[in-house]
Amino acid sequence: MKRHISFALAIASMAVAGWVSAATPVLVIHGGAGVIKRDMSPARDKAVRAALTQALTAGYAELKSGKAAVDAVSAAIVVLENDPNFNAGKGAVFTHEGKNELDAAIMDGSTLKAGAIAGVQRVRNPILLARSVMDHSPHVMLAGAGAEAFAKENGVELVDPSYFRTEERWQQLQKALKEDAQKVPHADEETAKHFGTVGAVALDAAGHLAAGTSTGGMTDKRWGRIGDSPLIGAGTYANDGCAMSGTGWGEFYIRTVAAHEVCMRVTQMRVPLSRAAAEVINQEIPSLGGNGGAIALDRDGHIAMPFNTDGMFRGWIGADGVPHVAIYGDEDDGLSEAE
Ligand code: ASP
Repeated sequence: MKRHISFALAIASMAVAGWVSAATPVLVIHGGAGVIKRDMSPARDKAVRAALTQALTAGYAELKSGKAAVDAVSAAIVVLENDPNFNAGKGAVFTHEGKNELDAAIMDGSTLKAGAIAGVQRVRNPILLARSVMDHSPHVMLAGAGAEAFAKENGVELVDPSYFRTEERWQQLQKALKEDAQKVPHADEETAKHFGTVGAVALDAAGHLAAGTSTGGMTDKRWGRIGDSPLIGAGTYANDGCAMSGTGWGEFYIRTVAAHEVCMRVTQMRVPLSRAAAEVINQEIPSLGGNGGAIALDRDGHIAMPFNTDGMFRGWIGADGVPHVAIYGDEDDGLSEAE
């Protein structure tokens, strides 16, 4: 990737962060794996690309103004949470009981600080609550009513649960309930239950990394099921050399501690990012019967976006400030020109 950094930016980043090395900012986002091509109308295709572009633009503006990677991650995720096309915030999938229960996490790779929330039903932007848990609580993860009480005390916006509802998600639940009644779901149906989760990873001008993920989980989930997205190390992880956000069949990301596993291979075993991510996402997870994808970024700005579903809503923006977005597996996501 072509990298140049102005002297002024280098000085500014050193002033903010002490001695750290300067970097060219990079932001990578996903809007979920498990896209099924035949289900994508031209209108939806267009709307998703517009939303991904908007999220990249919002997050990159933070990085360009010298803000930290965690700020870019939350700014990008807020855009996607507010867009009903994704399974996060408005437009989240429904539980078996017909509710929306939201999970999110954020992690600052430079400090290893993290915040996560699970099973909230009234928080408009779950990623902002995860950030608030990281910044303003002595804990890492809060769940359910307690998390909402913390939101209220810390000025994080609450909404009526009906805010999250979309007719399309409601119909997906009705279909899943019908299938439940008829037979055990097969792999294709499982895939259809878990798409649209959103996530972001960023490298800021000071050379720091961050990761964040936000989701409604899986359609028809029961019994307070929590997926990988809010679990630090499973769906979300960042350290000072690697950041990852996963999307897919969460149980398998938990069992393989996927995000931590990728980052350990990169930072401890010195495996190149693209190989580490492909090994865990496209070999280890499928070998157990799972599927999905991920976005990952290393401290040198290398990007990986592996997935083993039909497609993954994804995008990145780097040195030239031009947003690149892609949906399908056979689509050029512009990464080869960047490497
Ligand atoms: N991984 C999420 C979960 O299992 C779902 C997804 O990524 O779409 O909750």
